[in-house]
Amino acid sequence: MDNDENKDEEDWSEYASAGYSTAYDPWADLVPLEEEEEDDYNFDSDDIIFSCTPPPSNDGLDNLCRMGACNYCMARLSGKSFTWKEANDIGESLTNAAIKRGAEKNEEVEYCPFCEDLFVDIKMMAEMITEQLTKYEFKKMQLGAHFPKDQIITEDELRTQYGANGSQAIKSAFNDALGEQLVSNIENIELVKEQPEVMLLIDTLTLEPSIELRSLYLYGRYKKLERGIPQTRWPCRSCKGRKDGCESCEGTGQQYATSVQDQIGEPLRAAFEARDTAFHGMGREDIDVRCLGRGRPFVIEMKGPERRYADLKEMTELVNSTSNGRVEISELRISRRSEVARIKGTDAEKSYTIRFKIEGECDTEKIEETISSLEGETLEQQTPQRVAHRRADKIRKRKVVSISNISVEENEAQMDVRVESGTYVKELVHSDEGRTVPSVAGLLELPCEVIWLDVNDVHAD
Ligand SMILES: [Zn+2]
Ligand SMILES: [Zn+2]
Repeated sequence: MDNDENKDEEDWSEYASAGYSTAYDPWADLVPLEEEEEDDYNFDSDDIIFSCTPPPSNDGLDNLCRMGACNYCMARLSGKSFTWKEANDIGESLTNAAIKRGAEKNEEVEYCPFCEDLFVDIKMMAEMITEQLTKYEFKKMQLGAHFPKDQIITEDELRTQYGANGSQAIKSAFNDALGEQLVSNIENIELVKEQPEVMLLIDTLTLEPSIELRSLYLYGRYKKLERGIPQTRWPCRSCKGRKDGCESCEGTGQQYATSVQDQIGEPLRAAFEARDTAFHGMGREDIDVRCLGRGRPFVIEMKGPERRYADLKEMTELVNSTSNGRVEISELRISRRSEVARIKGTDAEKSYTIRFKIEGECDTEKIEETISSLEGETLEQQTPQRVAHRRADKIRKRKVVSISNISVEENEAQMDVRVESGTYVKELVHSDEGRTVPSVAGLLELPCEVIWLDVNDVHAD
């Protein structure tokens, strides 16, 4: 999980690092002199360069005009203050003034050498993107542009040479200009650099926008009131979760008909118009174990949600009514990605009620005493056989915090037990053929068989 998170952040930072309005190149005005001398050689239209005095001097502006700078780049590189809304008009009047002074635009220049006419199309581009974005519910957007590296380098050289000192680089200028358009086109959105709900990336080569709807995270607690439901989806063992399933899973691809994940996630997924869900519980109970009390904390992730804003009370009722007594949720609130790690990393003590059968003759008092004697004990638990295929084989030490409500009727006993996180509770009773020491079965020297087990509380949050 943590790795995924880092990877995501890194990928995005590659194109988001341009930042917004303040991303001037601090070294832009520190161009060494000898580079300036080499410049005529670098720029193939050197015949039209009359002077290297940078804008806002008239000579500098005349240069930009002769080179064929578009109105936007005229404004951007002029050293005059402007907003993107007025950039076209300001650039036009600067160009006209330069022409009046006798600077002739080089007719052979087909595209603006600074932006390759990227800014000229920005309004149309913004309209096309707006049309796609207005399908979705969001308030916070992060914007990024991917430029070919050589275009960035070329523009940087030209801008430091012919633009006013401190002129904004093409990448952040493009982000600003497009961002300003989108913010004015779409109501109630803002541009952010962190925690965006929508990430928009423009490939400036193809002008293709890619829109990513960031996951929506919801925190809550769930109770599992019926046995036989796994916490998360479980692919069919026979077909390994093939899309069209197989005979043994009746075409579902799933080992079990439902899961806590789907009981909670499917009604929410439909409501938020999400693509899929991911479920993260604070630990998990076995399929045959109920989870009662206040319930188990979880974070559910809505992937690609087209809707984001819902009345969470209504959402809670929706889940509880569709689940119809199988799974019940409470305390639903908006969460964030970082809480997944917290949920996964919390070692919460758990309280259980467990009922079991004692095979053989033993008097009630001795059974009660034996069970009580386990309170405060530290168990040594070798990885149980039932999970050995997916867990490393080792001995874990776990403490039995408390035992209460012991009752014994004939050869059945029941108790409430509170244990450290990660304790195998069934094994505390039946000993797993001696792998858990001490245990009820071990101390009584009689086989014990668990009848049922409930989680009564996850002591966290
Ligand atoms: Zn331009
Ligand atoms: Zn199957």
